[in-house]
Amino acid sequence: MSPLYDLIIIGGGPGGIGSAIEAKVLGLEKILLIEKSENHSDTIRKYYKDNKRVDKDWKGQTVELEGNVEFVNGTKESTIEYFDTMLSERMIDAKYNCEVEKVVKGGGIFDVATSCGIYHAHHVIVAVGRMGKPNKPSYKLPATLKNRINFNLDQCTHGETILVVGGGDSAVEYACELGEDNRVTLNYRKKELTRPNPMNLAMIEQYAQSTLVLLKLGIEIDSLDDEEGRVKVIYADGTSAVYDRIIYAIGGTTPTEFLKKCHVSLDTDGQPIFDPQTCESETAGLYLAGDIVFNSGGSIAIALNHGYRITSHILSSRQ
Ligand SMILES: Cc1cc2nc3c(=O)[nH]c(=O)nc-3n(C[C@H](O)[C@H](O)[C@H](O)COP(=O)(O)OP(=O)(O)OC[C@H]3O[C@@H](n4cnc5c(N)ncnc54)[C@H](O)[C@@H]3O)c2cc1C
Repeated sequence: MSPLYDLIIIGGGPGGIGSAIEAKVLGLEKILLIEKSENHSDTIRKYYKDNKRVDKDWKGQTVELEGNVEFVNGTKESTIEYFDTMLSERMIDAKYNCEVEKVVKGGGIFDVATSCGIYHAHHVIVAVGRMGKPNKPSYKLPATLKNRINFNLDQCTHGETILVVGGGDSAVEYACELGEDNRVTLNYRKKELTRPNPMNLAMIEQYAQSTLVLLKLGIEIDSLDDEEGRVKVIYADGTSAVYDRIIYAIGGTTPTEFLKKCHVSLDTDGQPIFDPQTCESETAGLYLAGDIVFNSGGSIAIALNHGYRITSHILSSRQ
């Protein structure tokens, strides 16, 4: 039988890491962080391009940090290194390569069933993010183009003709990065890019002016076709173009099935119900942190603040 933890945290991204650090700093003793990948910060490792600038005020959201994690502007690498240091300095007990399957509450204790056994805790934080399931467009994606339709930059090489789809910061950053060595077009369904933060807006303007990135704004994609192994994109106005690769940067989805298995109640739109102040779900002692509570886009700083609020609430409710 595994020990009874004060707190089990599901997910080792910023929401989970922030929760673990705050819990240790504020005085919770027995904490376990469970992460399904081989290391923490899987979203950052997988979806951020190398040397990516990491903005504290992501998407222009100005956030005052409330807790004990001093997160500042940096890069992908400096952010991962900072989290590495925090986790080892605070000696956080973490299980990697361990996927949580469900959470059940009985007799005031949570049973957390995972691919590596069942763990027990007084409190549980679900911080699994949304990028486990990146958003896909509504039209069909031809199965034969599986390797040419991507959701991050992992498979990109050089000298390709690439279409990046999306209108947010990630899409702009992907397009500019790829524009250095490829022929890149950025497609967004609206006529103007309004969502990226000011730095990214200035960057895309510069890349567009120097024709490193072509902008195709105000037009939707109707469908995709396989043209001899390349991606034929048919636009809503009937025009078409062929690309070596298409990259969707259109965010992630709420893992509703997983939340149901954790007994998190959902509203009629399938979004989790929680107290915005404490992040507690309708099940006492079961909390939600990070991107999971957002319908559209959170940030690292917001996820870290959730960790502080949750652990403060756990400690105050124990007194
Ligand atoms: C391309 C891109 C660029 C971005 N740039 C910035 C930026 O510059 N600044 C900024 O503030 N924000 C940025 N963001 C947003 C930021 O990454 C997220 O807000 C943040 O990662 C959310 O943290 P999280 O802990 O909620 O989720 P995540 O970071 O997604 O972490 C969730 C973790 O849970 C794990 N997990 C999932 N399911 C399970 C399970 N069943 N069992 C165990 N573990 C599980 C995952 O493997 C993952 O490690 C960016 C996002 C993207 C996609």
